[in-house]
Amino acid sequence: MSAANPFVHPQSSMVNILDCVHCGLCLSACPTYLELGTETDSPRGRIYLMRGLEEKSISLSPDVVRHLDLCLGCRACETACPSGVRYGELIESARVAVESQHQRSPSDRFKRRMIELVFPRPAVLRTFLWPLRLLELLGILPWVRRIVPLARLLPPLRSWSQPARIVAAHGRETQRVGLLSGCVAQVLFAETNRATARVLARNGCTVVTPRQQGCCGALYLHAGNREAARACARRNIDAFGADLQTIVVTAAGCGAAMKEYAALLADDPAYAERAQGFAQRVRDVTELLDALPLQPPPDIGPMRVTYHDACHLAHGQGVREAPRRLLRRIPGVELVELPESDLCCGSAGSYNLTEPEMARRLGERKAENIAATAAHCVAAANPGCALQIRAALLRAGMSADVRHPVELLDLAYRRAE
Ligand code: SF4
Ligand code: SF4
Repeated sequence: MSAANPFVHPQSSMVNILDCVHCGLCLSACPTYLELGTETDSPRGRIYLMRGLEEKSISLSPDVVRHLDLCLGCRACETACPSGVRYGELIESARVAVESQHQRSPSDRFKRRMIELVFPRPAVLRTFLWPLRLLELLGILPWVRRIVPLARLLPPLRSWSQPARIVAAHGRETQRVGLLSGCVAQVLFAETNRATARVLARNGCTVVTPRQQGCCGALYLHAGNREAARACARRNIDAFGADLQTIVVTAAGCGAAMKEYAALLADDPAYAERAQGFAQRVRDVTELLDALPLQPPPDIGPMRVTYHDACHLAHGQGVREAPRRLLRRIPGVELVELPESDLCCGSAGSYNLTEPEMARRLGERKAENIAATAAHCVAAANPGCALQIRAALLRAGMSADVRHPVELLDLAYRRAE
């Protein structure tokens, strides 16, 4: 097998494809299989297609591309697989190959190019959102949301201000942490970043938000643009100094990508070692808070909360219990389990823009499950999930209080003030 073959991940091999013993145990975990019931839209079917492409027994036809495009990259199949198939690496390689070998329609190309141009660039995103922000300041946005479906995706746009570059620990400093402000997150979820800095500072951390940081690269990786993702990784490794013991992330998708910088830059002699050290310091904010002796939060109850497992936290990083434990530590919060909590909500990076129909179906399924919990609030540790779930709840005519777990903790502390 040629190492230059684009269907082979640089860190993987055909062995990974051959590890699949076609047992089918992953099928019931796969959102697209659950929705469509077709083998070619299941992990096993897609691995079969990738093997066919690898062995050149099939060609990269529009049909094959369609089945690969429909994959959310949620990695639920990895969690379910008893044979250790690293499906995430396989689909990532397949996407690189699709983008280099397949001619997309002009409209599809345009949409994907716009996503790459706008979302990783906060300044460009802010420019696009200014008209909506103005409508919000004038009090007209709620009406616009009723008639413009895309506007329903947006959270309140009142403030874009980021935490100060350095937020000092209250009392004795126990550690210095770097905060990834994210690209979409710093525009649409600036409040989550501010809440994170406040909560960490209250619990003994000095929080540094380096201004030179940039996109984590996940959006590029999902789009099959590996070189752009590598450039993002180098920039962030340079931006977060070695004095920062932990690099804290509030977006599950970004955290999963940053924990894999070592693999992404393994063949870069200037960065391989630094990437390894960097990846080891990355923590989701719920992981970090769970490990801290928290200042006891005051009561915010009674509040019935359900927790949605973001795919890139549960399947990508294996973090499931930390956010739940954190929520249970807030007095007054009654945590109710969400049916199918780790089934993708349909957000999946930019998937809800490139595959709106499947994203809508999965959003509706999530909203039905949320309705069954009768929760007042949905906690989700990923901005994309929060946007998608909020839109699905609004479409279903339900109240749409969706928050990051750290925001609920911040709310408790601030109520006491
Ligand atoms: S569970 Fe693993 S081995 Fe079984 S079909 Fe799925 S990917 Fe293949
Ligand atoms: S990554 Fe998600 S959508 Fe894709 S095959 Fe695996 S379970 Fe299905």
